[in-house]
Amino acid sequence: MSDSPPVIQIRNLHKSFGQLEVLKGVDVTAHRGDVVSLIGSSGSGKSTLLRCCNLLEHSQEGEILFKDEPVRWRGEGHHRYPADPKQVLRIRTNLSMVFQQFNLWAHMTILQNVMEAPVTVLGRDRDEVEDSARKYLHKVGIGDKCDVYPAQLSGGQQQRAAIARGLCMEPEALLFDEPTSALDPELEQEVIKVIKDLAAEGRTMIIVTHDMKMAADISSHVVFLHQGLIEEEGRPEKLFGAPESNRLRGFLSATQ
Ligand code: ADP
Ligand code: MG
Repeated sequence: MSDSPPVIQIRNLHKSFGQLEVLKGVDVTAHRGDVVSLIGSSGSGKSTLLRCCNLLEHSQEGEILFKDEPVRWRGEGHHRYPADPKQVLRIRTNLSMVFQQFNLWAHMTILQNVMEAPVTVLGRDRDEVEDSARKYLHKVGIGDKCDVYPAQLSGGQQQRAAIARGLCMEPEALLFDEPTSALDPELEQEVIKVIKDLAAEGRTMIIVTHDMKMAADISSHVVFLHQGLIEEEGRPEKLFGAPESNRLRGFLSATQ
């Protein structure tokens, strides 16, 4: 992996929902500029791992470090929670999540959607945020859609707006949860292109994806999860070109 400083480190992460143990001791690190792809069957724990990274879910055991700063916890096990709301806010705003279902506000224009969190959550200057929102919307190719509402856009355009919204937080890293799986194949490509451009400019990203071609193209590191454990991980050439585990081989041939 790269020599650049770590942005996110996950160590020995355990997460259960009630009796169901979903993550059973997982380690993942993303250094600055890394693109880490998480692959695996449905139910293997990919989304849960991503949501634990930015503290949308609370893990029961293990450490999460943001730029070498450990998350501080109080309590134990199912009663373990992040101790410091300011730290949670700082980490969450620095790890912007892009969801499968876009999650845009229907009653706000695209520009308002992108500006909302930087203005209200981070308290940044409205004019300055508007400039950067327009810049990011232009960057993802929908600079002409500032004043329309989400329902007036295609799925691919909505997802690109959601990516612009993530970028406008000026995060240290972007977390993507199956960003293209709600889209028709022809719209998938326009979102993949945006993600590829972000990878090429050195953005730190963790991407849950079922798109093995994209993962092979842009990842610096690929993690194959199986039933809450890392079954195999490594560089994409190795993972896709010469997989060692039978489970990974089976998974890859099923996704061809
Ligand atoms: P993946 O993203 O790899 O498909 P998930 O992380 O979404 O997997 O889910 C892993 C397991 O955790 C599944 O069995 C799922 O049903 C369960 N799970 C996920 N979220 C919750 C939740 N909020 N409450 C209970 N079980 C959940
Ligand atoms: Mg998922």
